[in-house]
Amino acid sequence: MDIIPIYNPKTLLALTSLLTVAMASVLQLMSLATIQRIAGISYWASGALLAAIASSLIVLRDAAPAWLTFTSANTTVMLAYSCFWIGSAKYFGQPINLKPWAVFFATTWLIQAYFTYGLESLRGRYISTTGFIFVASLMHAMVFAREIYRGHTVNKQLRIGTIFTGSCIVFSTLIFGARWVHAVVLPQDGHGILDTSLPQVLYLGAYSFGLLIMSIGFLLLVSEKIRRNFEDLAMTDALTGVSSRRAVIEAAHDLFQRSRRNERPFALMMLDLDHFKSVNDKYGHQIGDQVLQAFCRRIEVVLRSSDLLGRLGGEEFVVLMPDTNLGQAKELAERLLKTSSAVSDPQLPVLTASIGISEWRQHDRSLDELLGRADRALYAAKTEGRNRAVAD
Ligand code: GH3
Ligand code: MG
Ligand code: MG
Repeated sequence: MDIIPIYNPKTLLALTSLLTVAMASVLQLMSLATIQRIAGISYWASGALLAAIASSLIVLRDAAPAWLTFTSANTTVMLAYSCFWIGSAKYFGQPINLKPWAVFFATTWLIQAYFTYGLESLRGRYISTTGFIFVASLMHAMVFAREIYRGHTVNKQLRIGTIFTGSCIVFSTLIFGARWVHAVVLPQDGHGILDTSLPQVLYLGAYSFGLLIMSIGFLLLVSEKIRRNFEDLAMTDALTGVSSRRAVIEAAHDLFQRSRRNERPFALMMLDLDHFKSVNDKYGHQIGDQVLQAFCRRIEVVLRSSDLLGRLGGEEFVVLMPDTNLGQAKELAERLLKTSSAVSDPQLPVLTASIGISEWRQHDRSLDELLGRADRALYAAKTEGRNRAVAD
């Protein structure tokens, strides 16, 4: 059955090729434009470029030799879908074992070459090449399934880019799966992919469409990663790696609101290193920086996973303690005092800290009142002789 006289498979393939090159260029440019390296992006860009080359090679059928328009086109498209899969695994930081994959690739390559030069068989070529791409797409879809499962159970946060791209890959996998089953159960005739029969038109259209929306999905994932990197930068203190002032104040606001709604206890403490200026004066700023880092590492060991440590600035820190009353906060502060002055690195001077503690009270109108009390308590700890915790 022939379809619509205006349909020309070569035009569709040429257009797909052009658009995929454009996608590959945008992906590669995005990778060059970002300061922090984004894993996987180069594989996606290479995959898109290879897919574009494969489409162009198929356009050359009848005008160029078979090794170019059949074997090379098949090889390139198989490599393209392998690159897509590897890129996504790298993007999500999932481990992959490429050795069995290389063997699978080599075997498929030999089979499709045999069905081109040995026994000329369109069906044989379809079963081998499409089978390979189907498995590659399936592996690719598994990467997203794993990520979506992990995102659902661990972060409780699903990102739109992951869902969109995952769906595109599932679509693509179904198309290749259908094409493969079709090749296995029904005899293949005509000129293969360039035929104007209804199934071929549908397959080629779905292949082109799948390739384009998948590339759009990769772009979405890249832009999500860039945004997340910037968020991390704003939310993390560059020197110590603990939460930034902005992050910890935002979290404190949330906890304050939660206590207001549910009357759940919430305590916080402010910590300030004692005589820190003298460390800078005596040993230099660099050692001062290292002392700040070592201080945070020691404190983190004592904190519970629900507590949040943030740097307010200079040598002043805050710890948020959800579901904690003043008494429990005092106990934790005493443990912190012991830990903070413990010697961890013999190269660094030993410093003590002073701590001011406060807890949420029903009549508190804003977080500032809570912070103000902790600040006053800290000042009291300093004036009472330092290396102690005072609660207000
Ligand atoms: P006190 O016991 O009263 O807290 O005395 P102090 O010396 O710790 O407090 P002061 O506020 O007088 O000095 C804080 C010093 O912290 C001054 C400043 O140079 C130093 N400082 C602030 N930020 C940094 C930083 O990022 N790195 C280093 N090395 N020093 C810093
Ligand atoms: Mg100080
Ligand atoms: Mg200070």
